[in-house]
Amino acid sequence: MTATATLSNQTFIDLEDQVAAHNYSPLPVVVSEAEGIWVTDVEGNRYLDALSGYSALNFGHRHPDLVAAAKAQLDRSTLTSRAFHNDQLGPFCRDLAALVGKDMILPMNTGAEAVETAIKIARKWGYQKKGVADGQAHIIVMDGNFHGRTTTIVSFSDDPEAHDEYGPYTPGFGAVPYGDLAAIEGAITEHTVAVLVEPIQGEQGVQIPKEGFLPGLRELCTERNLLMIADEIQSGLGRTGTTLACGYEGVEADLYTLGKALGGGIVPVSAVAGDVEVMDVIQPGTHGSTFGGNPLAAAVGHAVVKLLETGEHQGHAAELEPVFREQLEALIGKGVVTVRVRGLWAGVDIDPELMTGKAACKALAKKGVLAKDTHGSTIRLAPPLTITAEELSIITDTLAEVLAGAA
Ligand code: PLP
Repeated sequence: MTATATLSNQTFIDLEDQVAAHNYSPLPVVVSEAEGIWVTDVEGNRYLDALSGYSALNFGHRHPDLVAAAKAQLDRSTLTSRAFHNDQLGPFCRDLAALVGKDMILPMNTGAEAVETAIKIARKWGYQKKGVADGQAHIIVMDGNFHGRTTTIVSFSDDPEAHDEYGPYTPGFGAVPYGDLAAIEGAITEHTVAVLVEPIQGEQGVQIPKEGFLPGLRELCTERNLLMIADEIQSGLGRTGTTLACGYEGVEADLYTLGKALGGGIVPVSAVAGDVEVMDVIQPGTHGSTFGGNPLAAAVGHAVVKLLETGEHQGHAAELEPVFREQLEALIGKGVVTVRVRGLWAGVDIDPELMTGKAACKALAKKGVLAKDTHGSTIRLAPPLTITAEELSIITDTLAEVLAGAA
């Protein structure tokens, strides 16, 4: 028995409340151990993790291949800084670039850093390659976007909680309605260098744009000499049944931002992927990170790439998509209003008259399923891609029970 086994969840909740800043409002579950799709709290209760760390745990908790890669690397070297080379970075970048169909990778750590990096690359590309007047670069973003929490990124967020009282804000961004090609076209100026888009808006409740939007955007960006930047930090790496969500409609962006699952749920690993004629605007000294590309991160990221190279996880997510959709659609009219499903990713809008998303997630947790609400009455479901059809029905059966209990 571990030393903490005699303590209650509440002990840790109270401690966190006192000494950890209140930038989150977690469900009252204190995870102490996790394996695959399951987590256990300090009191020994077991939960099915239907959130997967916002898709950072696409392969489940402590996937054996990823843990083995991390352990092996811990015994070799963990950090070199980019002042020196290391023997993990090159092989990782080569194979990740091949996986996403690009020439080069710029490794960073968190998702927000990858987005910041893509913004910097796009601005520099605009000045150096497109001839935009210095200091004028303009990037079109989408209403309802979520790209992270840095001061520049929150400057163009329309979520008051993320945005308000963090000014003065970074200029150079203009927002248009998500999925509206005509609005994007209308917003293009001589200074526009890029369009930054989530192929599916995760934080917004798994909002899937109408079919044809991404191919249309690809065409528009090519015609108007703009970089299409796809933020695949939450949507990418197998979640939607394809390696990248853009791949569902056969679209290739100019830059991809990747993160979350790239670190296998073990270490933060993020990256920007692009072709050499764009990536070569970055030269020594113009961008960097002490930890970006460290050998431990590269070894784990490489092991993630190896898991995705077989296509097995993407295939499994694609195969389970109709099962997941059918299970969730069966709840429409029984407390569920609408569902949106792509791969093993679902946004479930529940009847706001019945209960809030947060209340539903609390009730789900009490019954052993972990999920997260967003925007009032939406529940996001993103179980590990290793889940089986039978285990999926634990999530949907439990949701049915919670909604029936509230009716
Ligand atoms: N971009 C998208 C689409 C995201 O969903 C997130 C996180 O939820 C981020 C960027 C930011 O990633 P991080 O929290 O690792 O900075």
